[in-house]
Amino acid sequence: MEDGFKREIDYLRISITDRCNFRCRYCMPEKGVEPKKHEDILTFEEILQFVNAAASLGITKVRVTGGEPLVRKGVVGFIKKLSSINGIKDVSMTTNGCLLQDMARHLKEAGLNRVNISLDSLKSQRFREITRCGELSKVLQGIRAALEVGLTPVKINCVVVKGFNDDEIMDFVKLTQEYPLFVRFIELMPLGERGWGKNRFISAQDIKASINQKLIPTGIPAGAGPAIYYKVPKSLGSIGFITPISQHFCPMCNRLRLTADGKLKPCLESDIEIDIKSAFNENKSEEKLKSLFKQALEQKPLRHHMTSEQNADHFRKMWQIGG
Ligand code: SAM
Ligand code: SF4
Repeated sequence: MEDGFKREIDYLRISITDRCNFRCRYCMPEKGVEPKKHEDILTFEEILQFVNAAASLGITKVRVTGGEPLVRKGVVGFIKKLSSINGIKDVSMTTNGCLLQDMARHLKEAGLNRVNISLDSLKSQRFREITRCGELSKVLQGIRAALEVGLTPVKINCVVVKGFNDDEIMDFVKLTQEYPLFVRFIELMPLGERGWGKNRFISAQDIKASINQKLIPTGIPAGAGPAIYYKVPKSLGSIGFITPISQHFCPMCNRLRLTADGKLKPCLESDIEIDIKSAFNENKSEEKLKSLFKQALEQKPLRHHMTSEQNADHFRKMWQIGG
C-alpha cells in the first residue's frame, strides 16, 4: 500500500492510552493531565476492528504505545487478539519498562514479539529527576525480564538532553558491551513539555562524535524503524542514532499513527487527523474504516518541519501521540 508520494506504508503505531505512571520532563506536564473519559477513548474491540481493516489493506507491523501502554487494564488479552489478526506479522511495544518485570512473560506468551524500553539515565537520582517519579531499579528489572523471556531484540530509547544526560553517553555504550541491547540515542523533539527550557538539543552527529570508541556500521536495520546501527568492538549489542531533527527520515517513512482517542495521524508532527472514533460511534462498516485509512494515506505530508528550537505549540504532545 502506497501513500501519495509512493512510500510503502505497512506499519501502524497504536497509542492505547494517554495515561502514564511517569511524568518525563520532555513529554508530560509535572501535574499530569486530565484523564480522558472512558467513552472518549477507543475500546480494545474498536482498535482490533480497525487493525483488521488496516491489515486487509497491507499493514503487517503494529507497535503498541501510549502514554504508558502497560497501565491500561486488559493489555495482555488485547495483545493476544492483536497478534492473531490475519496479516499482522510483527507486534511490538514501546514502554517505560516500569511494570514490565511481572508482565514480560505474559506478554510474550500473548504474542508480543519485542519491546523498546525508554531509559534516559543509568543514575537513579537523575532517573527520578527526568521521570519525576520513576524508579530506575524497576526499569532495569523490566529490561532483564524482557531479555530473559525473549522479547527481543530489546531496544533502549535514550533521549539525549544537553547538560542533563549527555555525560552518560559512554555509560550507555558500555551497556551494549555487556548486554545484547540495541541502544538508540534519540534527538530531543519539540513535541512535548519544555521541562528544561531552551537550548537542550544535541544532534546525533555530536552524540556520535562524543563516543571515543571505534564504531563499526552493522548495516542491519533491525526492524521497521529509522535508526542506523553500529557496534563497538567486543560488544553483544548495538548502538543506533535516531535523527528526526538533524537528518529527517521522512522519505523512508512507512507508518501511520492511531491515537488513544481514535484519531488517525498521517504524520507525527502534522496536525492533520482523520476521525476514526466517530465512525465507531456511528457504527460504520469495515468498508468505511478502510476508506478513512486511505484518506489518511492520501493526506500524508511529504515531510515534517520540526526544528530543534521551534515553539512546542503543537496541538498534540508526545504522550498523546505515542512517539
Ligand atoms: N511511555 C512509553 C515510553 O516512554 O516508552 C511510550 C510512550 S513515549 C511518548 C514513546 C517515546 O517517545 C519514548 O521513548 C520517549 O522517550 C519518546 N519521547 C517523548 N517525548 C519526546 C521528545 N520531546 N523528544 C524525543 N523523544 C520523546
Ligand atoms: Fe510517560 Fe513515556 Fe511520556 Fe515518559 S515518555 S511521560 S514514560 S509517555
